[in-house]
Amino acid sequence: MTGGVARSGEFELIARYLAPLSAAAPLAFGLTDDAALLAPGPGDQVVLTKDCMVSGVHFLDADGPEVIARKLLRTNLSDLAAMGAVPRGYLLGLVLPRNVDEAWIAGFAAGLARDQAEFGVALLGGDTTATSGPTVLSLTALGTAADGRVLRRSGARPGDLLYVSGTIGDAVLALHLKLGKIFGVAPDMRAALNDRLDLPSPRVGLGARLVGIASAALDVSDGLVQDVGHMALASGVAIEIRAADVPLSAAAAELVGDGPALFVDCLSGGDDYELAFTAPADRATDVTAAASASGVPVTCIGRVTAGQGVIVRDRQGGVVELARTGYRHF
Ligand SMILES: [Mg+2]
Repeated sequence: MTGGVARSGEFELIARYLAPLSAAAPLAFGLTDDAALLAPGPGDQVVLTKDCMVSGVHFLDADGPEVIARKLLRTNLSDLAAMGAVPRGYLLGLVLPRNVDEAWIAGFAAGLARDQAEFGVALLGGDTTATSGPTVLSLTALGTAADGRVLRRSGARPGDLLYVSGTIGDAVLALHLKLGKIFGVAPDMRAALNDRLDLPSPRVGLGARLVGIASAALDVSDGLVQDVGHMALASGVAIEIRAADVPLSAAAAELVGDGPALFVDCLSGGDDYELAFTAPADRATDVTAAASASGVPVTCIGRVTAGQGVIVRDRQGGVVELARTGYRHF
């Protein structure tokens, strides 16, 4: 790492807080060389992905360094999960305010250490630099795929079924709570929803098990309807979502029960980090087996047909018109 958070102390800070994060990766040489090595197994191909997070856009400084670090790692792991790759390690780019304090870096490293243990990855290298602007965090995650076999967005075919993992909508409801758009929610429910916004659960075990079963996959980051639309476009098909079958958590179901308009937000809100995928109808038992082996519930929520675009249907089969389908970055 070069550059400088309070340049004089940078090497000391890296040694103290970041170098231990590389301990499980001997080919990272304790972050003391100019670069690290990655040794994929025979036949493995390396799968790479990167996400950037900017203070005030993707997180608030008030979220705290531990939560910010874990969300940064987890959103990247979710992209590896969407490809069916097995996570191996990651590179960090930290652009931190000149006056960042050591406690922040310690908290950030502690968050990473916690999730490294959970997801079996290690820090392989990176760079830190100081800025007079907002905090910018970048993480490049590296995974492997046996024989380069990955899940793509483009393989959905008419007749396939559409599935989603876990539950949809908690994160957007938590954001509504944070912004004061909904209120009067019991503390335990609020905590459950917040947890899902702060700490998404990348479905890496499920993604890897779906290789060879799913025909197309992606992770839901910008909103279920919009992301399924991306899959329909990439695959050159139409995909129907049965709104009534979209799985909600107990907390989300209660809120939607009180305010049905919130259901549309669940379908179009972002930050779910669940997997949406399609599979041929005759692979349904394999999908169920992959779900139970990975301990992640999976729900069939629709089907693929000839045509184009995404169609949301209500219980009676009528088309649900959505004012917005997902998060717009620009
Ligand atoms: Mg993604």
